[in-house]
Amino acid sequence: MYIGRFAPSPSGRLHFGSLLAALASYLDARSNHGQWLLRIDDIDPPREAQGATLAIIETLQAFGLQWDGEIVYQSQRSAIYQQALDQLKKNALTYPCCCSRKEILKRTGSIIYDNYCWSHPPSKTDNIVWRFKNNSRTLSWSDTILGHQSLDKSQSIDFILKRRDSLWAYQLAVTVDDAAMGINHVVRGCDLLSEASKQLLLIQALNLPKVTFSHIPVVVNSLGQKLSKQNLAPAITTNRIGYQLYSALVMLGQNPHPSLRNADKSDILLQSIANWDPAAIPLKYSTSHRN
Ligand SMILES: [Zn+2]
Repeated sequence: MYIGRFAPSPSGRLHFGSLLAALASYLDARSNHGQWLLRIDDIDPPREAQGATLAIIETLQAFGLQWDGEIVYQSQRSAIYQQALDQLKKNALTYPCCCSRKEILKRTGSIIYDNYCWSHPPSKTDNIVWRFKNNSRTLSWSDTILGHQSLDKSQSIDFILKRRDSLWAYQLAVTVDDAAMGINHVVRGCDLLSEASKQLLLIQALNLPKVTFSHIPVVVNSLGQKLSKQNLAPAITTNRIGYQLYSALVMLGQNPHPSLRNADKSDILLQSIANWDPAAIPLKYSTSHRN
């Protein structure tokens, strides 16, 4: 069975780009008679915006994007991330590293880590990170939208699994959770494309079931910048929901019937599930999003 998900981080409210990702993953799951789960990726408390989690949940409900089952919160799942790290330790696929950015730069002349601590284990046990021992210098896979993908140099380094502040790295938490939740299809923005290779490396290392990835284009504003919480993309409002859904479908190349422009959200969603055509998703949106 197809199991998909939407997994926003509560570092801010949903913007139009997040609506596209939510809608595309929802429609892909529903048109495959699958489940669509909601997970709040709240593993980074310092970057969390107050009230964002509730706002995200309320916005999804307002748009009629109803998920299946209980909401999963990453902040409550540290124990299973630790289990995964322990499993990697047992298989010599992770090691502690004490190098600061400055030390790496001094040694290598760049910020790309040189796997130094694998051959020079640190003597201290505090103030360290845990890195993935990346034995696969090659990996290729196929994205359903973007086609053939392979590791680039920055992805083949021994990346961090657990941070100096004891917070979990995105790739580890997401890989472990997707497997635990039975998720086998991930539809999300291509700003996360470079994470997919790392997730696939961890899937191999932890012997977890395969996941199919579909990365949709990111939305840019009229200045050509990616809409993001960092550049203060405006939160979507819950006014004119039908029109916003219609606009999102146009962006996703779905060619919605003009009569849907003023339709009720449930009619729009039902029609869009019936007519969903992932092959029509463009590699790049033809217009910028007007804020
Ligand atoms: Zn190191």
